[in-house]
Amino acid sequence: MIAVVIGVGGLGCPSALVLARAGIALRLVDDDVVERSNLPRQILFSASDLGLRKVVAGAASLVREVPGVSVETVDARFTSATAAALLVGAGVMLDCTDRLETRFLANDVSFAAGVPLVHGAVLGWTGQVMPIAKNSRGAGCYRCLFEAPPAEGIVPRCAEAGVLGAACGAVGAKMASEALRLLAGDASGVGTLTTIDLRSGNVRRIDVPQENQCAACGTAVRAVA
Ligand SMILES: [Zn+2]
Repeated sequence: MIAVVIGVGGLGCPSALVLARAGIALRLVDDDVVERSNLPRQILFSASDLGLRKVVAGAASLVREVPGVSVETVDARFTSATAAALLVGAGVMLDCTDRLETRFLANDVSFAAGVPLVHGAVLGWTGQVMPIAKNSRGAGCYRCLFEAPPAEGIVPRCAEAGVLGAACGAVGAKMASEALRLLAGDASGVGTLTTIDLRSGNVRRIDVPQENQCAACGTAVRAVA
């Protein structure tokens, strides 16, 4: 089973490293290059990687850290056009991007393709993680929580608000642990949103109920039940 890591950035780097060390085969998906501003929080990269494709530099770093690990690289963006091909053979996917449109797309594709998803996001000192999958327990998905993307400019992106490298490490490790649980068939965390605030130290768990009218999971959940 392959874990598909979408976005090899602040969250993708620590998630991939934890999964590689756990012996999980990886598929890295990103269409960007390593920039100097990435280095404080994107722990797979060093100054010698500047200008290299992130998937290439990331895979090389993982193989150095974990000799023998299986790492596929796809130099592409996760879109509605590429999603199906990117998930062939996948046992789980991790949304490690900082794009709102990708969060909704990954959520919807998860139900369409039957591949469990670990959602993750980080902003400033805070972050959140939520495992998402088809279930018959009434557990909700990302679209149950946020029906649709907000208008452009309403929510600040990481590039605008800043991100603490340590928050990426904490959230990325949590995402990897949830991916390992899903790969092991443990779906008990599905539908629970965990928020982490590294400044206050608060960790909160919120059970997200499934919305019958949800465009992504409503029909899927009823089909399973
Ligand atoms: Zn839903």
